[in-house]
Amino acid sequence: MNCFEEIRNRLEIRTVAERYGIEIKRNNTCLCPFHDDHHPSAHIYPNAFHCFTCNVHYDILGFVMELFGLSAIDATKSFGHKKEYHKPKYSAAAEIQKIKRKKREHFEKWEHEAYQTIHDYLWFMRDWFEKYKPSPNDTYIDERFHIANVEYHHAEEFSLDWIQQFSNEEKVEWKWVVDKMRNFLDEHKEEEKSQSAESSETYIKVSRAKSPDSIPVNW
Ligand SMILES: [Zn+2]
Repeated sequence: MNCFEEIRNRLEIRTVAERYGIEIKRNNTCLCPFHDDHHPSAHIYPNAFHCFTCNVHYDILGFVMELFGLSAIDATKSFGHKKEYHKPKYSAAAEIQKIKRKKREHFEKWEHEAYQTIHDYLWFMRDWFEKYKPSPNDTYIDERFHIANVEYHHAEEFSLDWIQQFSNEEKVEWKWVVDKMRNFLDEHKEEEKSQSAESSETYIKVSRAKSPDSIPVNW
């Protein structure tokens, strides 16, 4: 039996968590120390900690490593070799936790705004699609109709991937697309507004929309 197994056999995660100030309710739930939790969203199993919000799962060692920002060896040392174990140095560890929590909250805020942007972009394109759809007798087709025709479908697909497929890392990797959407919206929302006030300017705006720079996202 190696030292990791020895600890897993000897100690219960519940005892350790309580020792470190985590209050465990009767139904084995507790406030998650890894995110800003107000209603218990973590569950203590006989051999594991699981948070349904963070979607993390730790055994006793993983839990202590994460809680105090320790390596596996240092976490093991913190349990000592006999029946006793001591609390790892809290000051530095608490600081690490604070930074981790800040980072997570920062990400969550960004992710929320990013999704809002994707959603806005999707609706904006749907709007353009309807608004500039040529009628059967039109010989002239507004460039915005072409853009919206392609972009709407791309944005729809992207939005579904965002919700169903992307990991957090992938979301960050695709940040450039969200940024382009944001820029595009910032630029064109104003344009649309002023246009509905002065419809005589429509044609000038149309030719602006033809410049390659204003083609939205290069998928
Ligand atoms: Zn959590």
